[in-house]
Amino acid sequence: MTKPDSGHTDSYYAASTPAAPGYPKLNADIETETCVIGGGFAGLTVARELARRGRGVVLLEARCIGWGASGRNGGFVSPGYAADIFALERRLGKAHAKELYDLSREGAVYVRKCLSEPDFAGILGGQGRLRLTRHSCPDKIRRTRNRLEADYGHRFEVWDTATVRESLRTTSYHDGLYDPESFDIHPLAYANALAATAARAGASIFEASQAGSVSRVHDYWRIAAPGGSVRAGHVVLAGSAYGALSGLHPPLDRAIVPVATYVVTSEPMLVRLNEAIGFPGAIGDTRRAGDYYRKLSDGRLMWGGRITTRRSQPHQLAALLKRDILRIYPSLGDFRITHAWSGLMGYAVHKMPIVGEIAPGLWSCTAFGGHGINTTASGGLLIAGAIAEGDERWRLFAPFGARWAGGPLGRLATQLEYWRMQALDRWQERGSGDIQTR
Ligand SMILES: Cc1cc2nc3c(=O)[nH]c(=O)nc-3n(C[C@H](O)[C@H](O)[C@H](O)COP(=O)(O)OP(=O)(O)OC[C@H]3O[C@@H](n4cnc5c(N)ncnc54)[C@H](O)[C@@H]3O)c2cc1C
Repeated sequence: MTKPDSGHTDSYYAASTPAAPGYPKLNADIETETCVIGGGFAGLTVARELARRGRGVVLLEARCIGWGASGRNGGFVSPGYAADIFALERRLGKAHAKELYDLSREGAVYVRKCLSEPDFAGILGGQGRLRLTRHSCPDKIRRTRNRLEADYGHRFEVWDTATVRESLRTTSYHDGLYDPESFDIHPLAYANALAATAARAGASIFEASQAGSVSRVHDYWRIAAPGGSVRAGHVVLAGSAYGALSGLHPPLDRAIVPVATYVVTSEPMLVRLNEAIGFPGAIGDTRRAGDYYRKLSDGRLMWGGRITTRRSQPHQLAALLKRDILRIYPSLGDFRITHAWSGLMGYAVHKMPIVGEIAPGLWSCTAFGGHGINTTASGGLLIAGAIAEGDERWRLFAPFGARWAGGPLGRLATQLEYWRMQALDRWQERGSGDIQTR
């Protein structure tokens, strides 16, 4: 069990992760080739991949490794982006959308490969992902499956209502799209393993070292932190929503809207849970702001849902999500919520990651939104490849720059957009609209 002073939010993950070794605080002026800011999956993947290529890299984390969204998310690893792939196709054309989709799949494959390394033992959870509709639309589901298979080479299985209801004891769902390629992980343990392997490969990692400023001095960058500074040829900004709030690089900060989502875990209730939920992998509905959940190996239910631009955690969070759970699975009866927490995701207005060089030697690897485990892996690989080998594939993300998200007014606009999406979900459940493919 993690000690209460581990610094992490009080989540199931923090409680079920062995205490990490910890990394020192920056307390000197040092020099390196690349300084990565942010110790979430994005920054850690960049640091690990640069170190494995024999390049000099320093990573600064304001709190502790995995403290942000990376150490407290749902743990679903699946191809795709926060943006709908068919919307990307309409905007960019099929060939470009396919290249982006392939990259997102490469990210999931990267995570899967990491899991076979000894440091990552025990991190893999369930296998497969089931996406469910809250209204009957068998033709739309079939059309979606056919397009994903024909145009993106990704095979899914369609589940009809009878098959869904054989597996899940609820009448809330109708049709299902089963993806055998997806899987789920313990995200905090994954972050710790990325850091451990990066450090062993030669990366210098510092915790409790918040970068306070990034400035260009002659032909290098200077990153100042309370205890010291880093002089580097390249800087990678990977602070996501928490970085945007820390005010490090205003043009990028302004492009990111921090969006909160909530997660709870139940007490162990193996028998009841298996009776209600037969499917062993990750489950989510196709609503725009839908529920996402999975069974954990120790008989608990992990349930996530709701999105909002409000940053403070609701007072009655556990009761709120328990009510959501019982609406879908009344047969679970009464149970105790052992952990309830929230986390912030960084969203750009276009819902795509901002990945690329934003000034000479200044790189962005951020804004992965609610679909960040696979995409931080592919984004991290692209940025490390760009710095170490001149790989230019990050230009595939060029259409998704750091567009201003509108500040407080932008947050309000985003909140209004969520309410609009929720209304659209209700309207769709009465029989109209398209299936979302996030
Ligand atoms: C509750 C929740 C559930 C989710 N579920 C899923 C899911 O099931 N599947 C999925 O694919 N995605 C999911 N996501 C999204 C996913 O977790 C994120 O997209 C991903 O983790 C983002 O990683 P990151 O490294 O960009 O940012 P983060 O993990 O947020 O890391 C950013 C780090 O930067 C640090 N930092 C910020 N500013 C500074 C500074 N100035 N100096 C130094 N350090 C700084 C922060 O302390 C933080 O640790 C979920 C997110 C949340 C919150």
